[in-house]
Amino acid sequence: MKIIFFDGAGEIGGNKIIIEENGTAILFDFGKRFSINSAYFNDSFVGRNWKKVHDRIAIKELPPLRNFYKEWPMSPKNSIDIDIKAVFFSHAHLDHIGLIDLIDDSLEKYMSNYSKEVLSFFGKKGIIKNNISNIKIMDKPVKVGPFTVHPIPIDHDIPGALAFQIETSKGNIFYTGDIYFHGRTNEKSWNFVKYAKNNNPYILITEGTRFGWRFVTSLTEEQLKKQAISVLEQCNGILFANPYEPHIDRIQTFFEIANEKNKKFVITLPYAFMLNRYSSIGDTFAKDILSSPNTLIYKSEGMPNTWENETKETFVDAAYVHKNQKNIVMLLDFMSIPELIDIKPEKGALYIHSGGEPLPSIDVENAKILLNWLNMFNIPYFNIHSPGHAAQPDLLYMAREINPEILLPIHTQIPERFEIASDNVKILERGVIYNF
Ligand SMILES: [Zn+2]
Ligand SMILES: [Zn+2]
Repeated sequence: MKIIFFDGAGEIGGNKIIIEENGTAILFDFGKRFSINSAYFNDSFVGRNWKKVHDRIAIKELPPLRNFYKEWPMSPKNSIDIDIKAVFFSHAHLDHIGLIDLIDDSLEKYMSNYSKEVLSFFGKKGIIKNNISNIKIMDKPVKVGPFTVHPIPIDHDIPGALAFQIETSKGNIFYTGDIYFHGRTNEKSWNFVKYAKNNNPYILITEGTRFGWRFVTSLTEEQLKKQAISVLEQCNGILFANPYEPHIDRIQTFFEIANEKNKKFVITLPYAFMLNRYSSIGDTFAKDILSSPNTLIYKSEGMPNTWENETKETFVDAAYVHKNQKNIVMLLDFMSIPELIDIKPEKGALYIHSGGEPLPSIDVENAKILLNWLNMFNIPYFNIHSPGHAAQPDLLYMAREINPEILLPIHTQIPERFEIASDNVKILERGVIYNF
């Protein structure tokens, strides 16, 4: 059996994992590799559109796979000798799913129902540009050639995240995807650890994002809520917050803050869109938030409604928010920040950055723009957030518990750190074919 890691080896994000046996290959995740992409292209310099795949293979943003891309402008001799039969997506963060629209329509793509809804959100926002077909909802094991792939729900800071068990002739491979242990449904992640431990783990492919990060502990949503409330109580004006639109657990946290403090919960259209989509696949939290009489949807005057919304007939506008601002918790996505001009926030307003865009560590330019807007209105900025990745002690505990024959760390800049917990760590390099 061969395994190749294109991206995610020695770096955070961009995972692309190929597993091949007897001529059949399957791929896990196909995300954006932010480190390399921003080095050669950016939003204003997009390069040669007519040679997009070609150029991105040349800069090592994409792997040289044949019969895989919608466009294939290279000669077959420049590709690796592997044909991918199916692609599995662990979750819908862009570093795992962001390049899906380059994949040929003939290939089957498997993901959770939640991930599919988030994908439609990216389509609306124009982040995913091409049409995507052949998406299959993965709610049971899938057989591809010699492999059987089992989806295992885990907790991460986006709903519908999956780990995988891959049955191979050599034994079981477990792939964590991105995982954390302090979210609202952390029991799913603990159950994964228990399951992997008890099912003859031959290889564990694990994320290690937080090795090297300065802080040790994580906040639960309950702890995070307490921090936000303590800030709110000091300011006493409108509370603006920007969780990541697909992160329903964090939206829920701010919804609870509004309820507990007897304030209205006002959300912009992208949040309403996401809640609506989750609600349509049976998510009761999303449904409860949307149908609450306390929840109001904000629409800017004169704004064309490109975000469908069938759940509320009426919207509130800037005049309403201005008038009632002392009694409002408002989710304001980054694109909607100019609404401050119309809302005219008064003294006491505050802004809590809580995982939404722009991410200060990745998107420095836009983070500066956000601060400029807040400063113009003299609104203090607070960063109250907890990452969606396992803390370092949890990663080491997981590695020890599962105790695989071979441990392959990815999605980390310090893969060697797993050597504290295991004697079987292999440090990976991009594009190398490993035989197991
Ligand atoms: Zn990731
Ligand atoms: Zn993730």
